[in-house]
Amino acid sequence: MPTNFTQCQDCKLQFPTKGLERPLPVRLGWIGEFGIHDLCVECRRKVYSAYKEPCPPGVGVYIDTKIKIRIFPRITLTEATAQYCLLDRHLEELPYIQVHALEAVNGVYEVKMYEERLVLEKARWLYGGDIGIDNARDAFSWQKGGAIDLPPVGVVRERRNRIRQMFLQRELFAPSKLPAIQCYIENGRGDLWEIVNALAV
Ligand SMILES: [Zn+2]
Repeated sequence: MPTNFTQCQDCKLQFPTKGLERPLPVRLGWIGEFGIHDLCVECRRKVYSAYKEPCPPGVGVYIDTKIKIRIFPRITLTEATAQYCLLDRHLEELPYIQVHALEAVNGVYEVKMYEERLVLEKARWLYGGDIGIDNARDAFSWQKGGAIDLPPVGVVRERRNRIRQMFLQRELFAPSKLPAIQCYIENGRGDLWEIVNALAV
């Protein structure tokens, strides 16, 4: 199959029409007129470094309205690489804390936890904004022949952040797949304090 090429509408260079490098539509309001322009990853980086994309709800630091504690959303290396299409080396320069997992993750109990907002920033830079991350997820899922894990959103994200923060305060990590944790995160079932007190021993 021949590769088809298309032009970036800013730098005018040619890129494949498919895959990670393809130019993606970006709304530009500062190049004379409003309009959608197909931009390559380099040109998208320039746009988004001048016009920063806002942090989505529950990804940056916030106060939980239910239990009134400050939440620092953190994710594991495994989650960061799977959900944001990153490689281990992309996370090397990011700060992390190391905590003890209640259940081994890939055979180890010591888990590195990264600030999710910094992971998102890294992925946005690497792929050229949220639209670039979405494109990378499509490309990766096509490669591996299955859906990519997506970061949780809405109330599921709030519950994950809340219960995770309570364990992190005890320097523990409770994997979201533990039955009691999963039940709380996905369905809001169970008493938060009872779950934490039962597991954090
Ligand atoms: Zn370009």
